[in-house]
Order: sequence, then structure tokens, then C-alpha cells
Amino acid sequence: MRTLITNATLLDTDPEPRTVEGDLLIEDGRIAAIGGDLAADHVIDAQGMIVMPGLVDTHRHVWQSVLRALTPDSSLGEYLDLILGTLAPAFTEDDVNAANHWGALDALDAGVTTVYDWSHIPHPEAALDGLRQAGVRAVFAHPDRDALPRLRPSGRITPALAAIGPVYGPVEEAVADFRAAREMGVHISLHATGVGAVEILHERGLLGPDVMFVHGNGFTGDAVKMMADAGATASVAPAVERQMGHGEPHTVKFRAHGIPTGLGVDTVVTVPGDLFSVMRAALPGTPAADVLRMATIEGARAIGLDREIGSLTPGKQADLIMISTDSPGMAPVIDPVAAVVASATRGDVHTVFVAGRVVGTTSAKARDGAERASRNVLRALPPRRVRQGAGSGR
Ligand SMILES: [Zn+2]
Repeated sequence: MRTLITNATLLDTDPEPRTVEGDLLIEDGRIAAIGGDLAADHVIDAQGMIVMPGLVDTHRHVWQSVLRALTPDSSLGEYLDLILGTLAPAFTEDDVNAANHWGALDALDAGVTTVYDWSHIPHPEAALDGLRQAGVRAVFAHPDRDALPRLRPSGRITPALAAIGPVYGPVEEAVADFRAAREMGVHISLHATGVGAVEILHERGLLGPDVMFVHGNGFTGDAVKMMADAGATASVAPAVERQMGHGEPHTVKFRAHGIPTGLGVDTVVTVPGDLFSVMRAALPGTPAADVLRMATIEGARAIGLDREIGSLTPGKQADLIMISTDSPGMAPVIDPVAAVVASATRGDVHTVFVAGRVVGTTSAKARDGAERASRNVLRALPPRRVRQGAGSGR
């Protein structure tokens, strides 16, 4: 099956964001060619559309979709207590499945074709199934190194290790996690801010290009240099980091050292699940074209998938998004790169392809499942204190 996308504004991201001339041919799920006079079985007329690589979210807890906007004002400490401490244990297997399905549809709906799902929730098989049902491409990162070999993610889903230590768990556990991940040949990522994590891993000789640090606010200049020397990568979540008080995002410092740096939504309990608003949050100090790279090819590099996704290079997976340009919020498009970074929203995402197939169709069944899961989990909320207001004492 050869599908030709014609009449589009093709926006590539590598080596730098720019428009390219021609039509785009998809064959067997991959980008076969860009050019003129290409023969196909099926033609998609993309007049008025920007066609570009799908967005890459390098860090998201997909299971939190059913807690959407629950705590827009919470600090990191409150998030850890309520979401991870109180509500996460209330998720049943069905809840995890429904939440991951719905969260993956949230990502696809917003043009995110690859999500790095940092899945620190029980029932990993149910979480994986949710991703599969949605059709998203994913890196599925799970904290239990012993469970990983049994999960056998396949096809569009790549396994990874979600290391808890050395920041949120013991150093020796982190060491064992890193060693196990390397034996399995899987990518590693960990949450870290402030002083210590990079230094400890450096001392133990555990840094490498297969390690992605999430956040990194407050890393010292020395730590950033250690990361750069080891080829380690970074995922920043500027919207969440500013909102929850992690500190000023380290985007500019990481990129100044040549560290591949991707963007992450992180959690929809606090911020929206689209990467457009994250791109906007990443703009201060970073040019729009670089922000678009972070959301595509550079993010792909940060998670170790840049040979497969992130640009329109022939041979790569046909993970593509079509962005409509005719809305009052998009037209006139003077510079397509700037339009995507500064103006586009999820409402402008017209069609989403993963491996050459249209994905992301939501259903009432999926939404009902998410709402049921949400209601079930929220029963674990601590009872609200009775308000002692003007009405009391009557
Ligand atoms: Zn996170």
C-alpha cells in the first residue's frame, strides 16, 4: 500500500526546521520518499495543511489522565502526597487500563505520536494494553526491573526502566536498576533535581547515553558537564516545573552543552496534555525553531529513538501529523515553523498517523471507561474538612 500526501506544506525538523518541496510517499508504514512524480495507490490531498513529524513527549505519567486538572495549584510535595501517596494505590487493573487508554488518546488527539510513559503504577500489563488500544507509539518505562522481561512490549512499544533512585529511592537500588537495564539493553530515565543524582551516578560510573534525566532544575554546572561528557540526555517539563515549584527550567543550560533535550507534559493533573502549550512554556531563552526540534527530533534523540522517528527522513516511521492552517488562530501562516510553535493548538491537529495509519479516534466507550476509573479512584480522596462558615451554628 502506497499512500501519497500531496499539496501539503511539508515541515521537516532535521537538520533544522524548514519547509521542503514535494509530496510525501508512505509505504509499508514508513516514509518512502519526498519528491515529485511519485506513484501511489491512494492520494491524500492536504491542501492548506502543514504536514510534519509527530510530536514526541519525552516524559508523561499516562495513567494520571483520569485525574486531569485535579490539582492545578499543588506544589510538588502536595502532588507526591496526594497523587502518588493516596490515589495511586486506589487504581484497580481496570482503572489503569482505562486511564492509559484515555491518556494515550489525549496525547494522540494533540498530535503526540510518541509518548515516553513513565508508569509508576501497578498492573503494567493493563497499562501496556491501554497504550496498544490507542495505537500510540510509546516507550513504556516501568520501575520494577524484575517485571520488565515478562512484559515483552513489542511493535510500537519499547520497554525502558523507570529508575526511582538515587533521588526518590536508595542508591543501591538505583545501581541494581541501572545494571539490570543495561543487561536488558533498555533505556533508563529518572526524576532528578538539585545536587546529588548526577554526581552519585558519575561516581559509580553509571552515566551513559542511555540515561535521560527528567527535570534537572538546580543541577550544578559540574553536573551538567558530567551529563554532557557521558552523552546523557534530558527531558524538561517547563510548564509543570514552573507551576509546581521545581525551579527555573534548565533548558538553555542543557542545550548549551549539546545535551539532547526533549519536552514533557509530565502530568495532566496540573497542566494540559498537549505539547503545544509545553512548547510555549519552553520558549523563553530558546528560539522557536529549537523548541520545535525539542518537540520532535531532539526529543527522539533524548529517548533513543531518533533513528526511527522525529523527522521526515525517508526510511523513518511514517509518524506524521497534519495541522490545519485555516482557523482564525492559525491564519495567516507567514512562517510555518513559527506558526506551529507560537500559534497551533490541539484543535488545529487534523489527522494523526502512526506507522502510516490514521490513529487517535476517540470513542464514548473509552471516555466512559476513563470516567468510571476516575470516580473509582477519587473515592480514596481524603474527606474534605467541613467548612465552618456563616451557615454554621444556626
Ligand atoms: Zn514525572
